[in-house]
Amino acid sequence: MSDQRISLDEFIEPARPAQRHSHQAQVRWGSRIVTIGGGAPVRVQSMTNTDTVDAIGTAIQVQELAIAGSEMVRITVNTPEAAEAVPHIREQLDRMGIDVPLIGDFHYNGHRLLTDFPACAEALSKYRINPGNVGKGDKRDRQFAQMVEAAAKFDKPVRIGVNWGSLDQELLAQLMDENAKLPEPHEPQQIMYRAIIMSAVESARRAEEIGLRPDQIILSCKMSGVQDLVSVYRALARRCDYPLHLGLTEAGMGTKGTVASTAALALLLQDGIGDTIRVSLTPQPGEARTQEVVVALEILQSLGLRSFNPSVTACPGCGRTTSTTFQELAKQIDDYLRAQMPVWKGKYPGVETMKVAVMGCIVNGPGESKHADIGISLPGTGEAPAAPVFIDGEKALTLRGDGIVQEFHRIVEDYVEKRFGAASAA
Ligand code: SF4
Repeated sequence: MSDQRISLDEFIEPARPAQRHSHQAQVRWGSRIVTIGGGAPVRVQSMTNTDTVDAIGTAIQVQELAIAGSEMVRITVNTPEAAEAVPHIREQLDRMGIDVPLIGDFHYNGHRLLTDFPACAEALSKYRINPGNVGKGDKRDRQFAQMVEAAAKFDKPVRIGVNWGSLDQELLAQLMDENAKLPEPHEPQQIMYRAIIMSAVESARRAEEIGLRPDQIILSCKMSGVQDLVSVYRALARRCDYPLHLGLTEAGMGTKGTVASTAALALLLQDGIGDTIRVSLTPQPGEARTQEVVVALEILQSLGLRSFNPSVTACPGCGRTTSTTFQELAKQIDDYLRAQMPVWKGKYPGVETMKVAVMGCIVNGPGESKHADIGISLPGTGEAPAAPVFIDGEKALTLRGDGIVQEFHRIVEDYVEKRFGAASAA
């Protein structure tokens, strides 16, 4: 066996996400300004799945998404009736005290809707234009120009959002033909990547020629395969300095959609690529639309890019936690922290950075709890029914009996008040 020792002299650089230079766009509604790119925090977006014509139903879902943490909400604007409903949705949201900016999602007829319904164009804070769906042949440039002119007239930013499912087929066919004539043609997949990036970058250039400022343009090139998305965005990020909206399109349902989105977004965000994100989850029957926002927030918080809620470190449990008591206690504590956040957020600035540990037994419980701001080590099977509590790395007390969870809630509440209440009073 080799006698080689591992050298510990080498300095191990802590991993942290890279930063990419980009313009900064502003998405506004009233006094609310959401900055995108240019060093701003990575923003969370979502999209409704209500019929936009149902102004009240759509406003309620926008409200739910905004309360869940979505900083901009996109709505479909697909018909004259939907365009007419948009200002009513905005008014309803304003009446409810929800100032989240609305983004209009346009395909095929956006040029007409933005021209014929100026109140809709005004009520929206940003327009999404899909260059693959603005029209064919000689209509394409004219209709694209009409949408960009509306954005310039109402001083709104646009997202030029290419999606590989609706890629400009004329451009793709042209690039495929050119490739076929090469002595050594590239793989069709590489040509498709090129077409997607060209569609986005060339459309942005045209939008600037028509009259948009660079800081009014955000780009996206959504794909449904993780490796495809990573390849395209890495190339896109090298070729432009517009802010980038990131998302794995048609990610799917449940665990598959969550894991695929997380894998794709994490790889790119760690490279500094992505200024705003959406997780395109298909809701499972009965699942709230807000789940896509919950996942997006967790991705950003897990990467250390943003803090939204106190993070709970909980062990998975094992043969030392053979009853369900540990899971129940851990869930009750997690639910309690989430339930407090709507109130705590305003009352205790910084509370979202708090780290709480909920551990299942003595093996890792005390150690992990000491690393947290506040931690509890619950009794494992066969251990004495006692739960030591650690505060700022020190053992503070031991809880016993049936009221462990309630007592722990009270201790957490006291800790939050002492530590973060002071900040709000300062
Ligand atoms: S802390 Fe204890 S209960 Fe939790 S996984 Fe480790 S050994 Fe198992």
